[in-house]
Amino acid sequence: MSRGAGVKGVERRLLGLLPRRVLVALGVLAAGQGVLLVVAAGLLARAVAGLDAGLLPWLVAAVAGRGLLAWVSSLVAGRAAAGVKRELREALLRGGAVDAGSRVTLLTRGLDAVDPFFAGYVPQLLAACVVPPLVVARLVAADWASAVVVLVTLPLVPVFGALVGMRTAALTGRQWASLHRLGGHLRDVVAGLSTLRAFGRTGHQSGVVRELAREHRRATTGALRVAFLSSLVLELVCALSVALVAVPVGLRLLEGGMGLSAGLLVLVLTPEAYLPLRALGTRFHASAEGVAAAREAFAVLDAPSAPSGGRVVVGEGVPEIVLDRVTVRYPGAERAALEEVSLRVAAGERVAVTGPSGAGKSTLLLVVAGLVRPVSGRVLVDGVDLVELDLVAWRRRLGWVPQRPHLFAASVADNIRLGDPGAGLERVVEAARAAVAEEFVAGLSRGYATVLGEGGAGVSAGQRQRLAVARAYLAGGPVMLLDEPTARLDVRSERALVEGAARLLAGRTAVVVAHRPALLSLADRVVRLEGGRVRAGLVEECAGEGRAA
Ligand code: ADP
Ligand code: MG
Repeated sequence: MSRGAGVKGVERRLLGLLPRRVLVALGVLAAGQGVLLVVAAGLLARAVAGLDAGLLPWLVAAVAGRGLLAWVSSLVAGRAAAGVKRELREALLRGGAVDAGSRVTLLTRGLDAVDPFFAGYVPQLLAACVVPPLVVARLVAADWASAVVVLVTLPLVPVFGALVGMRTAALTGRQWASLHRLGGHLRDVVAGLSTLRAFGRTGHQSGVVRELAREHRRATTGALRVAFLSSLVLELVCALSVALVAVPVGLRLLEGGMGLSAGLLVLVLTPEAYLPLRALGTRFHASAEGVAAAREAFAVLDAPSAPSGGRVVVGEGVPEIVLDRVTVRYPGAERAALEEVSLRVAAGERVAVTGPSGAGKSTLLLVVAGLVRPVSGRVLVDGVDLVELDLVAWRRRLGWVPQRPHLFAASVADNIRLGDPGAGLERVVEAARAAVAEEFVAGLSRGYATVLGEGGAGVSAGQRQRLAVARAYLAGGPVMLLDEPTARLDVRSERALVEGAARLLAGRTAVVVAHRPALLSLADRVVRLEGGRVRAGLVEECAGEGRAA
């Protein structure tokens, strides 16, 4: 039941995105169509009963007018749908740091699924509200006995529709979830294809994708089966109801108890009373995927986004950073990514963070950078809570090398210059040298002027990492956050990069996620994370030990 309520909430919120005047316009158009329908039926009955050809032009005009109104209505609805999608997309693009794979599914194919909702379901919903009352009112005037039968049987359509609809909603939810999982997984696989190939794991991944695709297919056919069955049920209910009206009318016509014109009018109009409600069921199924997509989009939009911060500007010096029982939970995750993590990084201290994959190391850096807001606990920079800091100013003082740095479709020099947009070429080259990127940049077709492809295609993952280190070098703030900067380097480049990093980190407060001994040796202290917690007793004072290794 709660699921049904959820769907209702999503529908209402989607409707709320439509400008009021669009809803009013669609309602007026639907009412106009209803009136023309009743008028056309009356003209037809009178023309046939009275064998009066003079009414035919009016009949044609009424039918054409109805068609025209339907066309205008679809035009208005289509325009409104485009507007709503644009708004949602913009909101999603602005949105916080949520899992990129699912956002990509939503931004591309997913949101187009709301088209049938606005172009089909909404106009039909309005028609279902205005047409049946109009028809029933006309029937009361023509033959109240038939009107009573229609009034009694009409509610059966929505009741049966709702019964099957609930089941379909659950199935469509499952179908959407599997498509969504497939999208997220595919994106991750594509992003890591080169790595997977290097480790000979492509076979396993294609197995996983095949299994996900099979699950999606199963969910889709399940949803389709119920959709077909449900339209059959509704068809049956409508046919029986119409028969309940038509049979007595036919008998009374034969016995002469009813005029031909009135009888014809009743016979023509009765199915029209059920039609909008029945079509509503079909439109509902067609739009269910869109509603599921919208629910997903709303969930992403409602997720706690990246914190906006306050106004306090950090001091110029090298700061101390303290994490005080910080807990981070990503939306939808059952386990906390960080749990009650306390850590003090003194001014100028270099702390290495190690731990298995998924331990929360990257999350720790994101928290310090103010990109992820903890659900509880505080991050203090020189004693000032991050919540109160001006985050833009704070990030300007950070050098940050993320785990998967993004390169833009711009020249190598401009990509490095992101760290300091005003830097001249000689400083760019110096940064590249410090990050051991000089050699491979020289090997590129046009050196520093080489334009990298979208997403940085054309450079390897390790080279991308080095460009990101050069970027951080150029940024040169008093705090450095490096996320496994040597993870994809060969031993020779690693040694060179560690040398560069030693210069980069000197005299700065730094948190470095590291595994390999060479990088660990730069740290004053090593902290081990496991399952989101600082592993007690393993806070190693290992400056000397690491260097010896
Ligand atoms: P590490 O860098 O140590 O490998 P992460 O900080 O990336 O670990 O992740 C810690 C945990 O949080 C993991 O269980 C991971 O699945 C989860 N996680 C990371 N990022 C997200 C996200 N954007 N949404 C949901 N869960 C996430
Ligand atoms: Mg990580």
